[in-house]
Amino acid sequence: MKRRDLIKGIGGGLAVAGLSACSGADPSGAAKKSAEAETHKWTMVTTWPKNFPGVGIGAERIARLITQNSGGRITVQVYAAGELVPAMEVMTAVSEGSAQLGHGASYYWKGKAPAAQFFAAVPFGMNAQEMNAWLYYGGGIELWREVYAPFGVLPHPGGNTGTQMGGWFNKEINSLEDLKGLKMRIPGLGGEILKRAGGIPVLLPGGEIFTALQTGTIDATEWIGPYNDLAFGLHQAAKFYYYPGWHEPGTVLECMVNKAAFEALPADLQGIVDSVISQVNSEMLAEYTARNAEALATLETEHGIVPRAFPNEVLKRLKELSVGVIADTIAADPLSAKVYESFSAFQKHVAAYHDVSERAFYKTRDL
Ligand code: CA
Repeated sequence: MKRRDLIKGIGGGLAVAGLSACSGADPSGAAKKSAEAETHKWTMVTTWPKNFPGVGIGAERIARLITQNSGGRITVQVYAAGELVPAMEVMTAVSEGSAQLGHGASYYWKGKAPAAQFFAAVPFGMNAQEMNAWLYYGGGIELWREVYAPFGVLPHPGGNTGTQMGGWFNKEINSLEDLKGLKMRIPGLGGEILKRAGGIPVLLPGGEIFTALQTGTIDATEWIGPYNDLAFGLHQAAKFYYYPGWHEPGTVLECMVNKAAFEALPADLQGIVDSVISQVNSEMLAEYTARNAEALATLETEHGIVPRAFPNEVLKRLKELSVGVIADTIAADPLSAKVYESFSAFQKHVAAYHDVSERAFYKTRDL
């Protein structure tokens, strides 16, 4: 069909770029078809290195599935950290609309919105299953949206790493004294707790961790878990691998959507964006569970790494310090107080159930 026929067919002014068919007799039908024919070129920026296992691949999967499931009506070009914007500017890019999608972790934005960190990981807080329960069924997502509203950004849970590891250290940790003066890469509330224990928290994006640890710029790092830690080769930079990840019991990754770009989509495409993100949120946790188990075995059998438990007295003291850090965070920011009230009430509530289900079952399995 020639362009002039097309314009004639839908009555002049309704011409839409890329329109390939129309029904001139039915104005609402024409409008629907023109919406279906519109294509949207979206950009996704991430805080992750290119092709990075787990979190990075998950972000790329969101992009690919949005394009695939929309039949190409939305195309998404993904940029790794530093390709379009540095890792720590991902939220700004989505907020300003230079990217329509962003993938990262909400504790990276605590400088913009202190309450953001409660949606990623709370030390001694809730695990992956409990976080998803709070977010989807306990009012968590509504609060997250409230926290991001001033930025014009819609947050979604965009994956979960499961319980992380405690990290890689260049020396043994036998007592709290060993944390004093320790320079460690550790983000969010966990970093604040380390500071109160006498350590020096450093925030570095993933891509800079290995070199910093190997050159001695930092003495220790937490990253994610065996799957990602092995991929970075962290066992070549420090030999003491500690557990558990007290500071990140089940870290929620986030997929951010620019609100104006989302609202400009027809309803069916909005549904595709939402359902793809939700699908990858659950798939990523399954991937981490499987791959972390494989990678832990590889670290132990091929690289001679023997994971060590933090001494109980160290964990106990870190937990005591976490109470003060959270109290100060919520005292300084009313929105953090509102979010934490919901978070902590849900944790208490779900813990009572998990005491007689998950926790009781793990003990039973080990009998
Ligand atoms: Ca981590």
